[in-house]
Amino acid sequence: MNEEFVKLLHNNQLKATASRLSVLQIISERDAAISQPVLEKMLGEDVDRVTLYRILKTFEDKGILHKVIDLNGTANYAICHSSCSEHAHHDEHFHFNCSNCHSVYCMNDFHLPALAMPPGFKAHTVNLSITGLCKKCS
Ligand SMILES: [Zn+2]
Ligand SMILES: [Zn+2]
Ligand SMILES: [Zn+2]
Repeated sequence: MNEEFVKLLHNNQLKATASRLSVLQIISERDAAISQPVLEKMLGEDVDRVTLYRILKTFEDKGILHKVIDLNGTANYAICHSSCSEHAHHDEHFHFNCSNCHSVYCMNDFHLPALAMPPGFKAHTVNLSITGLCKKCS
């Protein structure tokens, strides 16, 4: 069992269940974001679809994972920046979409300053995407 993940869950007032830990384990081992269908396949019979859906929803609400939409319009999930919390995500980084393998990568090194919105506008999420070929496909 990964102590770091247990701590992360406890810090977010979540019980460290086997299913939650498996999801974190799989996502953290990849350098690209992962879609729910792929996660589902990797988890096999350990976690059913409804449980997985709830876990992803909870993790997103708690600021543990953020959703990234790929070129096909499929939701992928990636681990959040450590400063994300239940009330605020800070994932205003670029997402790299590979047009060949359709993987989505978080470009954590490129951060944007806070965007000044026109009066009356309130931004909830910012989507910054780059399309091209990833290191495996280029
Ligand atoms: Zn986040
Ligand atoms: Zn690729
Ligand atoms: Zn990201």
